[in-house]
Order: sequence, then structure tokens, then C-alpha cells
Amino acid sequence: MKDYNDYETVIGLEIHAQMRTHSKMFCGCPTTFGSEPNTQTCPVCIGMPGVLPVINKTALEFTIKTGLALSCRISPFSRFARKNYFYPDLPKGYQISQYELPICEGGFVMLNVDGAERRINLTRIHMEEDAGKNIHDGAGSHVDLNRAGVPLMEIVSEPEIRTPKEAAAYVRKLRTILRYLDVCDGNMEEGSLRCDANVSIRPRGTEALGVKTEIKNINSFKFIEKALEYEIERQRRVLSEGGRIIQETRLWNTSAGVTESMRSKEEAHDYRYFPEPDLVPLMVDDGWISEIKKGIPELPDDKIRRYIEEFKLPAYDADLLASEKQTAAWFEEAVSLGANPKDISNWMMGELMRLLNEKAIAIEASQLTPVHLCGLIKLVSDGTINLKIAKTVFEDMFNTGKTAGELVKEKGLVQISDVGELEKTVEQVIAESPNETARYKAGETKLTGFFVGEVMKKTRGKANPKAVNEILKRLLG
Ligand code: ADP
Ligand code: MG
Ligand code: ZN
Repeated sequence: MKDYNDYETVIGLEIHAQMRTHSKMFCGCPTTFGSEPNTQTCPVCIGMPGVLPVINKTALEFTIKTGLALSCRISPFSRFARKNYFYPDLPKGYQISQYELPICEGGFVMLNVDGAERRINLTRIHMEEDAGKNIHDGAGSHVDLNRAGVPLMEIVSEPEIRTPKEAAAYVRKLRTILRYLDVCDGNMEEGSLRCDANVSIRPRGTEALGVKTEIKNINSFKFIEKALEYEIERQRRVLSEGGRIIQETRLWNTSAGVTESMRSKEEAHDYRYFPEPDLVPLMVDDGWISEIKKGIPELPDDKIRRYIEEFKLPAYDADLLASEKQTAAWFEEAVSLGANPKDISNWMMGELMRLLNEKAIAIEASQLTPVHLCGLIKLVSDGTINLKIAKTVFEDMFNTGKTAGELVKEKGLVQISDVGELEKTVEQVIAESPNETARYKAGETKLTGFFVGEVMKKTRGKANPKAVNEILKRLLG
């Protein structure tokens, strides 16, 4: 009997990324999400006869930029192709895509999953136009063509991904890079980033690929993992029961938590691809490619490496701070103001992220700026305020946009470090707590926390904790 647990998983992903251009791929219509149905259309994108497409230069630039960032070969000669099929959301009866001569070939994405480095090679990146959207409601079925003709990049991986977790990490990494490059907003809920997952299994140690199934249009990281886990188990079960996998397209049913067959290979379209006769082939010259290259910012992996080397940050911190371009820029601005990088990182990963999440504010829109944070860090390090007070000041800065200095002055929060003054308070606490004092003197030194707490209460949190500890030790012997 074969052991189907000794099967290896093979996954290849096709990612559709909607490009952040103002206008569509082949006409001047806007690409704004969420507008009234069919208000962003023209004769070109609704497929009227006699119209001619015109290539969006920015879309081409964005695709080349992405290709360069992912180490692809940029084809000096590529062209568009017609992919023919019939569906109500596709008024022309064909989609303009690229087929045998895509703009980018090769390239790779580096992953770090559970501490292990993995390189996932890319097959290609090509450009195409999106289709419209069918809407089914009580009143019947409708077609919204606002999305028809919106520029997409399709990024195709080699079948080199081995686990659902790696698949999610791959999509996450690509999303981060696309956002760094500013070519796609990466919003999976709005469909700006969609994933088709191809999966098969094969006996471990063998080369030949097994028959694959394709799970269409998965729209969250969580579902990528869940759908793949389910599908791998399903394939194992089918094989172990003596059945065979049929090549088919499946859909992830979110509420039932299962994949369901949508169409089999026999029903698959024959797309009858042929070169798009209305568009000339694309010839991209080296001068333009070098120009585009100059616009590529430092990418997350390089940033992470630099944060670890230059700022001595733990990998965990570096990874988190570099996960979004705006977060990284905020961090680097704070560092340039002279505060200690690890202090900045601690405040950002803790209080700042918490408050931004809670109030659903983007970091670049926060009224608490790197200048505010560095001011606060300085007040802590020079002993003006203690760390506990600093946390409340931080939240006040976040809510009001006032500086730490202003708030400390306004609220009288300066730390009490004067030994004489603190001694009086400590003596008072000892006098009011004869019980605890006796127990402490009998050796229950963990009561220190109780005494410090009492002193903090009396000073409204302003006592210098280090000084209080020393005084306590001295007075209680
Ligand atoms: P199709 O013609 O069905 O679209 P492609 O050869 O274009 O298939 O591959 C589409 C995606 O599926 C790619 O990401 C590729 O790596 C992946 N893929 C191809 N064959 C397999 C397989 N047997 N198992 C898993 N993934 C595969
Ligand atoms: Mg395909
Ligand atoms: Zn249009």
C-alpha cells in the first residue's frame, strides 16, 4: 500500500495585480474603485465596433518597474494577444492580454518561512485588461463595466512553492514589493490583488508533476492557506481511496470551508490566442529601462539587512518596520533626528502601532510625528519623566498633536527625583503600612512592589522608580 502522507505538495501561483494608474489599459476612462455602475466607460472599454485601443504608457512602465525589482528579463520585443472567450462581463468577446511574448520573463521572489530562506522563481509577468463584473441580485443579473479595461499585471510563479504557508508568505512578499513600488495598492478586499492557486501532489522524491487543480480568485491571505490545506487533503484522500485527480478549476467556498468544482478540463475554454492586430508590438529601449530603474526605491529585503547591520535591530523589529514603505520612512526619519533606533522601534512596535490600529489611522496621517517621539525619548533618557508617565504622554501626543515638552509642562508631570522629597513620601507609606513593613523585615522582600506602588499613588506616578527603590532598601534595612 502506498503511503499518501509521503506525498509532496506542489504549488504554483498566478497573481493578478490591479495597477495604480489613473486611466484604463487602452482608453482614458478613470479607474476609481466603488463608483456608480457603468459611469466609467467609453466606446473602447465597452467594445463598440470600430474603436481602437491605445496602450497606457504608465501601465507599461509599472510592469517594467515590477519586472526590474523582481530581477526579470525585460523583453526588448513583446506584444499583446487576443484571448477569445464569451462571457457577459467581456463585451468585446476577447480580452487583450499577452501570450507567447510577455513583457517580463524569469525573475524570483525571496521568502523567509520559519527562519529558512526560499527562492521562488517566476515564469513571467504580463499585462492584460480586467473584465467587468456580473452582479446577481433579486431583480436579476446586471453587468458593471467600470472595471472592464482596468490594467492588470499577471505574475506567474514556477511550481516551486511547497506548503500553504509558503504560498501565503509569497503573496505577502509580492504585495509588500508592489506597494513599495507604488504600482498596486494591494487591497485584497477590493480585488486589487487576486490569487489563483494551482496545486498538485506527487510521491516525495519523484520529478514528474501530478495532475493539478486550480483554485480561482482567492482574496485573503487566510483563505490562501485554508483553501490550499483543504485541497491538498482532498487530493490525498482521492488518491488513497484509489481514485484519480482530474484537472479542473475549483472555487473556495468561504462559509463551508471547502473547495468546489467549477469546471473540468473538458469544459475549459479554447482561447484561440492570436496576436492583437490593433496594436503594434512593443519595443522597449535600454534608455527607458535605465530611467525606470532609477525610480526603484530601496526594497524591503535590503532595508531589513541594513536595519540589522546599521542600527543593530533584532531581525523581528527590522522585519516589522520594513513591512510598509511609510512605516520604514517614519522610522528612518526618527533615527535621523538622533534618537536610539531600538528605543524608536520599541515605541513604534508597541504604542504607535496599537493606537494607529485602534483609531484606524495610517502612519503618514498621524499627528504624532517622528519629532514628537524623539522629544519624548529625550525626556525619558534625561530623567525628566519616567517610563510610565511617558506612556500616557505618548497617547496624549497621539490624540492632540502637542509635543511631549508642552504636555509635561501643562500637566506638571516632571519626575520627582529629589531624595529629600521622596524620603518623606516613603516614610509616610511605611508609617501607614505597619503590617507590610513587619512582613518585609521578616524577609518577604517581594513586598517591594507594594511599597513602590503606594509611593507612585501618592506622587501620581511621578516618582523616580530607581530612587524610590534605593530609599526603600535603605529605610527598611
Ligand atoms: P494553465 O495552462 O493551466 O494556466 P500553466 O502551465 O500556465 O497552466 O501554469 C499556471 C500555474 O500553475 C503556474 O503558476 C504553474 O507554476 C502552476 N502549475 C503548472 N503545473 C502545475 C502542477 N502540476 N502542480 C502545481 N502547479 C502547477
Ligand atoms: Mg493559467
Ligand atoms: Zn473606456
